[in-house]
Amino acid sequence: MAARERISRWRRAIIFACFCCVLGAITTVGVAWVIAFRAPGPGGYASMRSYTIRDGASTWFVIEARTKRRCVSHYEVSGRPLRTLEYKSEGFRDVRLPDWVSVQVGESWLNSSTTRAYGYPVRALKGVEFIEHQGSGWVAWQRGYWVCRTRLIPFHVIVPGFIANVVIYAAIWAGVIAMAQWTRRRLRPAWACQHCGYDLRSLPSAVCPECGRVARSRPNEPSGA
Ligand SMILES: [Zn+2]
Repeated sequence: MAARERISRWRRAIIFACFCCVLGAITTVGVAWVIAFRAPGPGGYASMRSYTIRDGASTWFVIEARTKRRCVSHYEVSGRPLRTLEYKSEGFRDVRLPDWVSVQVGESWLNSSTTRAYGYPVRALKGVEFIEHQGSGWVAWQRGYWVCRTRLIPFHVIVPGFIANVVIYAAIWAGVIAMAQWTRRRLRPAWACQHCGYDLRSLPSAVCPECGRVARSRPNEPSGA
């Protein structure tokens, strides 16, 4: 009986942890989408730097920016400076791009790809926009975005950031739920099941018929009080 009680307690803990992780994942995606929806494109940058990376075969020009909201990272990578006039150049230096930045290797050195990453506190979702010079015109397309009217909603997962955010939000949810349960339990009268609130006054057994758990109520309470 005690062993069974212990197993079900473990099972409840695992279910609770899974439930919190699901809530954490939903929160992670929701927060990233709200940020993406409110800061859809370039503009309003809080900080910006540009630099050149030489990887042996080619030279990449990179624009790295954070928006004023500080929740969106923006990397524009191309074969040459596209907007030199707009950006303050810090000169040439060796920099490593974050792993999640997509570099478009195209035929033309005019091609560029812009990777934007969203999420808080860590960037968790991303989308990429490509601009390619074909013939006499420009072709733009996206990868990892849903187009929602004029907004781009990202859905490509940045695995380390996503896991970090899920853990953080799951912990917050666990704390909130535990607090709520504790408060509700404290407000329960002594004659009620301390787990589910079922009225145990006329029952002889210490096991709650509603939830099946041993009601941790004070046992020798006068019934019918
Ligand atoms: Zn109960």
